[in-house]
Amino acid sequence: MIAGSMIRAVAGVFLLCAASLHSEDLVLTGGTVYLSPGEEPMASAAIVIHDRRIAAVGARGSVQIPKDARIVDCSGKFITAGFWNSHVHIFTPGLLHARDAAAGDLDRELDAMLSRWGFTTVFDVGSVLHNTLALRRRIDSGEVRGPRILTVGEPLWTEVPIYVQDYLAANRIVMPVVTTPDEVRARTLALIQQGVDGIKLFTGSVQRGRVANMPLSLVRAATEEAHRRGLPVFAHPQDSPGLEAAIAGGVDVLAHVAPQSPPWTPEFVARLKNAHMALIPTLTLFDSEARKAGLSESARLRFIDGAAAELRAFASASGEVLFGTDVGYTEHFDTAMEFELMSQAGMSFAQILTSLTTAPAQRFGYSERSGRIRAGMDADIVVLDGDPSKDIAALSKVHLVIRGGQIQYSSQ
Ligand SMILES: [Zn+2]
Repeated sequence: MIAGSMIRAVAGVFLLCAASLHSEDLVLTGGTVYLSPGEEPMASAAIVIHDRRIAAVGARGSVQIPKDARIVDCSGKFITAGFWNSHVHIFTPGLLHARDAAAGDLDRELDAMLSRWGFTTVFDVGSVLHNTLALRRRIDSGEVRGPRILTVGEPLWTEVPIYVQDYLAANRIVMPVVTTPDEVRARTLALIQQGVDGIKLFTGSVQRGRVANMPLSLVRAATEEAHRRGLPVFAHPQDSPGLEAAIAGGVDVLAHVAPQSPPWTPEFVARLKNAHMALIPTLTLFDSEARKAGLSESARLRFIDGAAAELRAFASASGEVLFGTDVGYTEHFDTAMEFELMSQAGMSFAQILTSLTTAPAQRFGYSERSGRIRAGMDADIVVLDGDPSKDIAALSKVHLVIRGGQIQYSSQ
């Protein structure tokens, strides 16, 4: 008897452990699913999630529901693949001490800034690399709840932009400048060896009353080293010389539009496209900056119109747009304004959803596992309260976020 109960107890412990290795199966039923941008939505669908992946998706009734699965009723809701934010900074005060901070504090910060807006993958384009890697490790181990993080670590610049100097000094962070192609090569290689997913250059760096532009030889040194290892290069362009250095230097992604450059003509847009350049608009940033600078209402609106006109020129020529907000530099977490400005710049719902899902997944090498709702893909899923094809701001009204098969955020 004793031996028998012991065996049962041991078996029970074993089963418990085995169960905890896998997250529970989830089934989302009844929602309208946007499988991928441009595809007709699937009404009354069922999505089965097993072991971090999408196991099946189809019309409810046609999909086999696993026994013991947790059923989540999504009737009246709208479902898309998890969003990418391709321009964030893991650099807020709450995230700066990622190794030692309490997991719950990091959860709350990541939730407020990223997860609750549907972001299941983010590209950090400027931060302290060892800190961002520490945060990524804690997320990957399951200890901290947050998105998949790709990072460039410390950016390369010839002068530190004026607007980050105080923050760096206050937090005793030193980010070196680069002055020669050899320094750029050494710095780029060091970052790659430490595990970055891309390289960020300031081809234009704002100083008091002027812009410090990166010489072309430095830009080329960075793109050569990065491309040799298959990594993308981002540029903060700032102005016209910064844009030209990015184009001539082989940069892959513009991290912003550049409203301080002259309006983008069809010829200029064609040059960006010939250079296979993707564009992250970050239109909300220009609103935040205009307010910070105390611009008048009319000057602020003119500034944003200039930024939006560049996006309009690029997107209407079918340029590749990646969604991004510069959150972590800005404190504007709410994504509604970005979606509305992108829509006002002429982008359709399908184009905006592309910028949030398939375009970044493709650009950064994740298209086999991220960007659409399909069997075999990572179970990174956003459930929205409203239909974004009718009201684009519905992309910011997030009901539920699932990352890697686990519920990351719920509005209830
Ligand atoms: Zn930024």
